[in-house]
Amino acid sequence: MGQDIGSTAPNGASYSRAVRAANDLRSALEAVSVERIAARLARLSRIGQTPEGGVTRLGLTSEEREAHDLVGGWLAATGFASRHDDAGNLMCSRGDGPWVLAGSHLDTVPNGGAFDGALGVVAAVEVAESSREAGLDLPLAVAVWMGEEGPRFGGGLFGSATATGLIEPGAWDRADAAGVSARQAAAALLGRAPELETALLDRSAFRAYLEVHMEQSSVLAESDRPVGLVTRIVGISHGEVRVEGTADHAGATRMHERGDALAAASECVLAVERLAREAGDRAIATVGELHISPGAPNVIPGSCTFSLDVRAPEDADRRELFAVIDAAARAIGRRRGVQVEVLHVGEALAAPLDGDVIRMIGAACAEVGVPDPPAIPSRAAHDAQNLARFGVPTGMVFVRSTGGSHNPFEQVEPADAALGAQVLLVACSLLAHAGR
Ligand SMILES: [Zn+2]
Repeated sequence: MGQDIGSTAPNGASYSRAVRAANDLRSALEAVSVERIAARLARLSRIGQTPEGGVTRLGLTSEEREAHDLVGGWLAATGFASRHDDAGNLMCSRGDGPWVLAGSHLDTVPNGGAFDGALGVVAAVEVAESSREAGLDLPLAVAVWMGEEGPRFGGGLFGSATATGLIEPGAWDRADAAGVSARQAAAALLGRAPELETALLDRSAFRAYLEVHMEQSSVLAESDRPVGLVTRIVGISHGEVRVEGTADHAGATRMHERGDALAAASECVLAVERLAREAGDRAIATVGELHISPGAPNVIPGSCTFSLDVRAPEDADRRELFAVIDAAARAIGRRRGVQVEVLHVGEALAAPLDGDVIRMIGAACAEVGVPDPPAIPSRAAHDAQNLARFGVPTGMVFVRSTGGSHNPFEQVEPADAALGAQVLLVACSLLAHAGR
């Protein structure tokens, strides 16, 4: 890698091949259609549309499957063969490998938006379509990863983790709220049980993995830049904080006698916010879920449990913030006379993306008229981190988004979406030539 499109041998057949490829690439770039991309995103958003104008298309449901089948049909029309692998991922390819793999996901959170995941899949389809129209020979494969979001079975990146051998033991046996396990849901949809061994990808079949994704933060919008390079994907610590006080009568217990678990937990939550702010840009932390017991208006809360989510681009910064929060929470418990325990439930390590692939994406951005795109870490998890850990050279392109994310208001302008597809197209072409 590190070679660019014009750097093949300067004479003979390889030179004319390079010139032809450059001309075909220019034609393919012109064939990228803003309207087609917008229409496909709108079409996908109708699968699982909610009354609030959002999309509910959870992993391993008939809605996700319908979206997979729609995309499989679009790709089949451009000469792709597609199949569901033994983890429920839609895997599509054209021509002979090793391929440049492009992809993202089509599942959403409950009442999510139309762009998270779908943008990257539609961009990959657009690369397939425009390259075929221009006669550009690209060794392209497309992956639509199953169950990226994970609210249904309590764990995200399900399909890509299975395909890269990184799935946690027991994950397929976890059940949703209705008691249906991921394994049962997959068997019902695929007509066969998921097979962890046969779902494993052959790493050597892929030159690289590229994922276009809406940014989900506001760095690009605030700096008025349409696309950015992702340098790495942050690591995440999952924690659970248990506060044990004393349940007692809300009327008969005087204020100084109380061991109020919720009041102590509230102070801990504010400490999480303060300590994360003090970490500046290095790390962030969130409490997103809280349970009070026994949970009655006339009973002082006896116990309270809340979630803790700590993220940072550098693993050392993340562990440091987690430890500082742990110490502060226990100190609050001692002062208030309640028991506070901070459990470390699990972690995902930060995933640096591939330097050569990042440079090629940078060159691709320059080629489509966006020189020096901002380089930013991703604070959200993505399937790309599993591919990177699996050893496939991996890069990501962020596209400017507004309206936040995981809600019906997330928004990517069609022109920006098309620019993301063009960057993907050029990056695929550069990576395809780099291996020749
Ligand atoms: Zn996503």
